[in-house]
Amino acid sequence: MKITDVKTIRLRASIPTDGQVFSRSGLRTMRSTTLIKVETDDGIYGLGSASGNGELIEVIVARTLKPLLVGMEPTAIDDIWDTAYYRGGHKEFGTRGIGVVALSGIDIALWDILGKVRGVPVYQLLGGKVRDKVPCYATALYPEEPSKVARRASGFADQGFKGVKIKVGFDLDQDIRIVRAVRQELGKDFIVMTDANQGYSIDVGIKAAQAFADAGAFWLEEPLFVEDIEGHAILRERGNTPIAVGENLHMTYGFENFILRGAVDFIQPDVARAGGITEIRKISALAAKHKVPVSFHTWGDGVALAASVHLSAALQDCILMELDYTYNPLREELLKVPFKVDDGDLTPSDLPGLGIELNEEALHRFAFAGAEDLTIRQKTLR
Ligand SMILES: [Mg+2]
Repeated sequence: MKITDVKTIRLRASIPTDGQVFSRSGLRTMRSTTLIKVETDDGIYGLGSASGNGELIEVIVARTLKPLLVGMEPTAIDDIWDTAYYRGGHKEFGTRGIGVVALSGIDIALWDILGKVRGVPVYQLLGGKVRDKVPCYATALYPEEPSKVARRASGFADQGFKGVKIKVGFDLDQDIRIVRAVRQELGKDFIVMTDANQGYSIDVGIKAAQAFADAGAFWLEEPLFVEDIEGHAILRERGNTPIAVGENLHMTYGFENFILRGAVDFIQPDVARAGGITEIRKISALAAKHKVPVSFHTWGDGVALAASVHLSAALQDCILMELDYTYNPLREELLKVPFKVDDGDLTPSDLPGLGIELNEEALHRFAFAGAEDLTIRQKTLR
């Protein structure tokens, strides 16, 4: 079998005003994603998802990765990595960042193909399920009046979610009031995470981590700029709240730097960014060796979610998986059979590969070929 084509499919959906959320990453007025379709000469194809700037992903796939991969055996995934990254790709697009994001999407598609060829689901390729259901926490609490956030949090608890995550990283006093209000509403045993999206300085981060520890926060996520590993190590030592990092790290190297320097308690790789299923296995093995639990970051679309659910079902040291529960038709409408959350759990498909098919009507409706528009983000980040 040979790879005949590697296609990118860019999708975009605007978010109505009442569904728009504001975090330290800016105001989100649309959801966008890039699907990857790897086609072969015997008709089997694989689907993947790459989470990053679609225009850049499209160029890297078309100019660098596709020319390297066409004609290769799609099930020889390590051989493909050798060509697409270790010997060839990274010299073109760098050792991390958007090139690895594009390759992540291709890698997911290759595992989809491998599962279809062997007639087994991806979780089976990963060694089989260690859990039938994947417990999730909901990410959907953004800064608002504390009692309002608390009420919304309680709605997620009622739906069976095992935890909720609150966006912080703004005004520290307000952040603390919100975290306390949610804790009071949900009782002392419910899992409450906090996520600063790199919004704090080290001094404010230490104060936040101390205050969140008093409120029983499960973790403080991305407190500081992601390249400041030393700062995370200091904060971890002095703040008392466990530190979670990973949605903006790539490849095993990025995670290894944090783990070996004692800068992180939980890692959160994103399969559509960090290097696909192949690299996530290596990252998870490294984390397991150092007793650092893994909680997958999910954001983009139904395809990325499917890959994350297979991984979470199959890898031993995973704890609660993130489920982005903000407005996102690319998660809800893109698959022929969308994921259903049942009592806070997701279940991987038992069909071959990722076990998903795309909804063609939704694909046409969300298809997008224009320039990425960053103006609103620019405005809100300033
Ligand atoms: Mg986050």
